[in-house]
Amino acid sequence: MDDTHRLDDIEVEEYVRIRREHREALRGGRRRRRRVLLLFMIGAIPIYALVLRGALGLTMGARSSAARTPALTWSAVRNGVGDAFAALAFWKNGPVKIRMKVLQPVVFYGRKVAVMGLVTPANLGESSVRIEARSHAGRWHALGAVRPSARGAFETMVAPRENGFLRARVADRGVSKDIPIIVRPVATMNASGTAFWHRPFAVKGSVLPTSAGTRVVIQIKRGSAWRAFRTARTDQAGSYVVAWRPSSVGERTYRALVPQTAARAAAVSPGKKIAAWYMVALTFDDGPWPPYTDEILDTLRLRRVHATFFVLGQMVQQNPSLVKRAVREGNVVGNHSYSHPALTRLSDDRLREELRSTSNLVAKASGRRPRWMRPPGGATNERVNSMAKELGMKVDIWDITAVDWEGGPSYRTITRRVMEQVRPSDTVLMHDGGGDRSQTAKAINFMIEQLKARDYLPVTIDQIYPGSSAPKPLLPGAR
Ligand code: ZN
Repeated sequence: MDDTHRLDDIEVEEYVRIRREHREALRGGRRRRRRVLLLFMIGAIPIYALVLRGALGLTMGARSSAARTPALTWSAVRNGVGDAFAALAFWKNGPVKIRMKVLQPVVFYGRKVAVMGLVTPANLGESSVRIEARSHAGRWHALGAVRPSARGAFETMVAPRENGFLRARVADRGVSKDIPIIVRPVATMNASGTAFWHRPFAVKGSVLPTSAGTRVVIQIKRGSAWRAFRTARTDQAGSYVVAWRPSSVGERTYRALVPQTAARAAAVSPGKKIAAWYMVALTFDDGPWPPYTDEILDTLRLRRVHATFFVLGQMVQQNPSLVKRAVREGNVVGNHSYSHPALTRLSDDRLREELRSTSNLVAKASGRRPRWMRPPGGATNERVNSMAKELGMKVDIWDITAVDWEGGPSYRTITRRVMEQVRPSDTVLMHDGGGDRSQTAKAINFMIEQLKARDYLPVTIDQIYPGSSAPKPLLPGAR
């Protein structure tokens, strides 16, 4: 798919709607600040100040983030509350200085973000808009260019190489102008169902009575007509899951139909309602490690969902049966190196050996060769990535982590940390090995329940990423 899109009219309206919401958020912020000022003038009691500062910390942080010191952390933005405030920061200040400070510094490594904006007046858009990033050295360099639509709207994806600032510029009679933009991690989906592209989302349903192999047609509404979009077949439990990658920003309406046949005419109802799920991949590193890997596998099986295990070769050697079980039960096993070194510091020979021996051990234990590699500590570079590729693996760095190794957090804390951070299509780092992981093993039972309550379906890493030849995503009775 081409990385550059033009917005059609519907999407321009969508964009304008988003912009209006952000303006409203901005106005709300002003009102709140006026109230704060009033309280200070009337009371001026220090205790008020403390209480209000706590309550309004985010607003203040967001303001100063664009104006002076970058105080709004990306984790706040990722937690959803921050979306409006991040937007506030750049709408208020016009130019595009979004600070992408992250608490987990690898979040943006090699990851793409969606950049959208509107050139006004639209005729400025005759030339293309350059998307630029600022390097640590303070130099601006181009990440890409995009040609706006006739109405001035543009939308593109860029892959920042490091955390920092982004801006969009257009040249007008030799003078460069900054264009306000909205920057979002790709594949987020807002409350109204607007999907950002790049990663897939899943649609799940079931057909009654339960029978395997029933053909289900997913249709998409175009104008007033419905058109076939995807097909799926039900599994033993009568369930089907279809995943795809939205090709552009905007709301879409889908429905699922079971084509009528003579044999089934009486048995199935057409136009069944379908449920859309956000996908999330739970991943467990440093195992297999009894008894925690067993406990996690038990929970996954009980809850009828799947996860991904990034295993260490030396642990596979000791516990091959756990790897076999994980794969047999539909989970994905990835390569986490043999002995957990920092891969970027190894010679080519040692690097290849760390990865190849682990892949061989997994293949021997489970009959399946790993297609994914997660570098220990998230430490990777072009050399490590291409070595992984040479050995038939893609690299995954997690999006969020429960930090379940540091300070021995309780299962409640682990669950809360994940639920506070999770966004659609995230991969979540946890551990089933490397120490006492009883709290992690206990947490995932609660976590899966809470994720499902918020319409998140835990899937394997294959299903999160587009284009990978994923095993058929069938999850019998997943809800
Ligand atoms: Zn690890």
